Amino acid sequence: MGVSKAVLGEPSIVAAMIEGKVSFIADSRIENLQKMKNAGISTNFVLLRTPKSRAESVVNNADISLNTEIETLKELSYYAKGHNINHQVILMVELGDLREGILPRDLSQFIKIALSLPHIQIVGIGCNLACYGGVEPDDTNMRELSMLADSIKREFNINLEVISGGNSANYKWYNSGQDVGRINNLRLGESILLGCETLSRNPIPGLHTEAFQLIAEVIESKNKPSLPFGKIGQDAFGNVQSFKDRGTRQRLIVALGRQDVSPSGLRSKKNLEILGSSSDHLILDGERNKLQVGDEVRFNLDYGALLAAMTSPFVKKQFVDCNGNKLA
Ligand SMILES: *Cc1c(COP(=O)(O)O)cnc(C)c1O
Repeated sequence: MGVSKAVLGEPSIVAAMIEGKVSFIADSRIENLQKMKNAGISTNFVLLRTPKSRAESVVNNADISLNTEIETLKELSYYAKGHNINHQVILMVELGDLREGILPRDLSQFIKIALSLPHIQIVGIGCNLACYGGVEPDDTNMRELSMLADSIKREFNINLEVISGGNSANYKWYNSGQDVGRINNLRLGESILLGCETLSRNPIPGLHTEAFQLIAEVIESKNKPSLPFGKIGQDAFGNVQSFKDRGTRQRLIVALGRQDVSPSGLRSKKNLEILGSSSDHLILDGERNKLQVGDEVRFNLDYGALLAAMTSPFVKKQFVDCNGNKLA
């Protein structure tokens, strides 16, 4: 599954994922699924986070949703029946990371009830690791998922098509060449988009790690002292900062702020040091580069910065193909 939430279901990027042969597109937001459908994207759509209050919209927009609560399944069943569609579900199992998941000891009882709900079809199980607790996918927890799949098949004689082992953090486990058991699916966002695995953020061989670039304009370039002068109180975000005296340096302000991006997730391509940021200003040490007003500064983004920049209405998005040609 290609996971599109970090790019808000941007159709041109999703189309590239589909061209790259993912079998499903998964997103956490119903709005993003609608955006992709309206743009004419046709694939198996998966919803990664299923709110009970929006069950009707879920069955109308997602082919498959990930679930952990019976109350939500009942609601999905009700609306699926009303619209005369079958809604497919993947049940998420808790394997230690403590984000979403049915506890393994509750799984059998859960499935028993789920099987009694009309218009709900259980098509798989899955787990999510390395998100909250940072628990690494390894041979032990992956084998447990495989064993759960086997025991469900034995107990209920249902065919689970999808055994979804996790997200981009599963790269190391997958790449270690161990037996994958029954696991036949991963849900991959960051590794596809940014080209790195997510346990240590190492680049994945053969993938581009600079597919996304944030470009901002220099709006001030001046030699200034590196120590603020006057009585020091709180800054714009309630922190009291401390500063090191490095003498007079050329400082740059670029038109980018916390309303656009999380500055800690930016790395300037020219290794300009980020000195600080406020809602609309990012301050850089420009001593070595002598950039002037109107010049551009390019940044690479980490996942959090990508997510924020894609979400900011102030950041203009321009998509280019692999030859650098602008797409619509
Ligand atoms: C976001 C998400 C993913 C994708 O995670 P990446 O680290 O971007 O690969 C997979 N599964 C679920 C349930 C998610 O919410």
